[in-house]
Amino acid sequence: MQGFDSLMGQETLVQRLQQAIISGRVAHAYLITGALGSGKKSLATAFAQALFCTEQPGNACGTCLDCRRVEAGNHPDMTIIEPDAGKIKIDQVRRLKERFALQAYEGSWKVGIVVGAETMTVEAANSLLKLLEEPSGQAVIMLLSTSPSMLLPTIVSRCQRITMKRIPRQLIASFLEREYGLFPQTAAVVAGLADGRLGQAKEFAKGESLARIDQILSGLANREGRGLEALRLAAKLDAEPEAVEFTLQILATWLRDMLLLASGCSRDMIVHQDRYDELREQSRLYSPSAIMQAIWQIEDAARALRANANRRLTLDALFYQLADLNSSSRASEVYKYGKSSGS
Ligand SMILES: [Zn+2]
Repeated sequence: MQGFDSLMGQETLVQRLQQAIISGRVAHAYLITGALGSGKKSLATAFAQALFCTEQPGNACGTCLDCRRVEAGNHPDMTIIEPDAGKIKIDQVRRLKERFALQAYEGSWKVGIVVGAETMTVEAANSLLKLLEEPSGQAVIMLLSTSPSMLLPTIVSRCQRITMKRIPRQLIASFLEREYGLFPQTAAVVAGLADGRLGQAKEFAKGESLARIDQILSGLANREGRGLEALRLAAKLDAEPEAVEFTLQILATWLRDMLLLASGCSRDMIVHQDRYDELREQSRLYSPSAIMQAIWQIEDAARALRANANRRLTLDALFYQLADLNSSSRASEVYKYGKSSGS
């Protein structure tokens, strides 16, 4: 699949951008927001292709020279800047401005894509703001961000906002069966973990990720190991930083499933339907409030790690709290019992 066609589930956004090109109303700046793996960069790339495409203007053909150069990230009239050691620095924005100041090499458009725009330093953001304040000719800047609230309001107000859509679980599952040859049950689990994000689903559908998902879930489902004891993956996680967010996400979906079952929801509501029996059994061991608390703790830790908190300390604290789940659960049972007997 090429160009706009690869953006399954984002049809309304694609139509809006195509309409802008056809009607000659392309904005000078767009702010594309969405969670990690929601397809922000794919949308920005397809939009750039549609601007440059010589075969089907306004509709990225995906195969002409311009489209292929955009895809490869080396189109002479497109500049992509990404965080360098976690930050976008003023020099990077300056280079973007220099290229914008030059005559376009080929097409009439110039495109700038800023990945992780929220990581701009104050100097970089102020420098970019000047560029946004003085739009020139056929130039488009696309800011991509998972955390738009961290951007300067003056920057946000100069951009047209585009929010990536969450794609229904079923649509992602059938895509994975069709394009990646996953078995229906595996596809359902991966789609559930991807939580509406196609890019994330593709990432999870890779062989090594699948094996890891299976390994983690087997640990969680292990009756002997009292389920949540398997959360002591912290030591291993520290050695593989890229796997941390991924593993925390699996833990969170596992706990959410437990919570749903503990609240009386049916099997078809949960992500890990293939491990229904183990989940139901575990959901009886913990109070809903304790499970809820564990989910919050995981979300807090994931957020802290994204904001570059110390990994070792954050994970140690998290796993210490989670290991305590059992006792805090019992404590809340006592509390509940005490309350009802007293009334
Ligand atoms: Zn093309």
